[in-house]
Amino acid sequence: MKKQKRFYLAFVTILIFILSGCTTNTDTADSCATMKVHYIDTGESDSILIESDHHYMLIDAGDVDDVDTVVNYLNTQKVKKLDYLILTHPHADHIGAASEVVNTFTVGKIIMPSKANTTKVFETLLDTIASNNLKITKPVVGNSYTLGNATFTLLAPNSTTYGSNLNNHSISLRLVNGNNSFLFIGDCEAEAISDILENKQALDSDVLLCGHHGSKTSTTAELLDAVTPTYAVISVGNNSYGHPSDSTLSLLKKNKITTYRTDESGTIIATSTGSKITFTAKASDLSETASTSATKASTTTKTDTNDDSSNESNVVYITDTGSKYHKHGCRHLDSSNTKTTIEKAKKAGYEPCKTCKPAS
Ligand SMILES: [Zn+2]
Ligand SMILES: [Zn+2]
Repeated sequence: MKKQKRFYLAFVTILIFILSGCTTNTDTADSCATMKVHYIDTGESDSILIESDHHYMLIDAGDVDDVDTVVNYLNTQKVKKLDYLILTHPHADHIGAASEVVNTFTVGKIIMPSKANTTKVFETLLDTIASNNLKITKPVVGNSYTLGNATFTLLAPNSTTYGSNLNNHSISLRLVNGNNSFLFIGDCEAEAISDILENKQALDSDVLLCGHHGSKTSTTAELLDAVTPTYAVISVGNNSYGHPSDSTLSLLKKNKITTYRTDESGTIIATSTGSKITFTAKASDLSETASTSATKASTTTKTDTNDDSSNESNVVYITDTGSKYHKHGCRHLDSSNTKTTIEKAKKAGYEPCKTCKPAS
């Protein structure tokens, strides 16, 4: 009888071990708390899938031409439900495929800043959210949420009065898995970055996703001093803005930060065990990249401070309230103009202005 009991106990122990996926009860931190962060290659836009203990979160949903890329990627990862869909700010390169994501997958909580946009892609998104009986949760700085074994805390936006630059309204968050941490800052630029630095939330992170596709207005020296990342990821594709900026690459090099780029590596997956982080991609050669970018910057783009490349023939301007895109200097452009390209403006539902008649 005793022998049978012992056998039974051993059997149950093995069964628990198999079902839980843990090697022993004591090393759960290493064997059970693996989190994966997928920086999906969507070109010049953002979309990051995070998985912890079969719970999923998507931060941003690429551009409007990334619907298939984003939805197919989530399907290959066997995502059925997103616990969270975080849309950092309502620019098309962050919410482009969000409607399709909401229509395709079960979504728990949608977190979006209260700053609105007047584009068709944004209005369609609001309609889609409403027709799926979902509500929008507004971000509150300091609020924390649980994703499987991980947690994340919101760091921005710290103001609703940033004005017309939608980038500054971006949600920022710090994701923590055991002793590993990841920082996301959307497209926050200098003003919003300095508010993040002042808001007294923990910032120190192992991995920084460089804001605004590597623009120098997001990855500032002060931010790197506060975050002290070991790794940086840049989500960037073909663009006329000079992203990533040469000064961003130089800063990353100067701070000896191992950098990965989606335009070089495609989708980049970071695996966090809670104690160490590994990447699927090959690190970018910053010495070579910085000099190549310097040449590129001097020949094609003067500066990316305001994404200013007005000499480019496909560059147009949109406003926060209008539905038309304009040429540089059009009288309909007020202080709230944002630079974009004709392709992006058209994809986002803008039409050519009848006054300045930009190319269509
Ligand atoms: Zn943006
Ligand atoms: Zn962006």
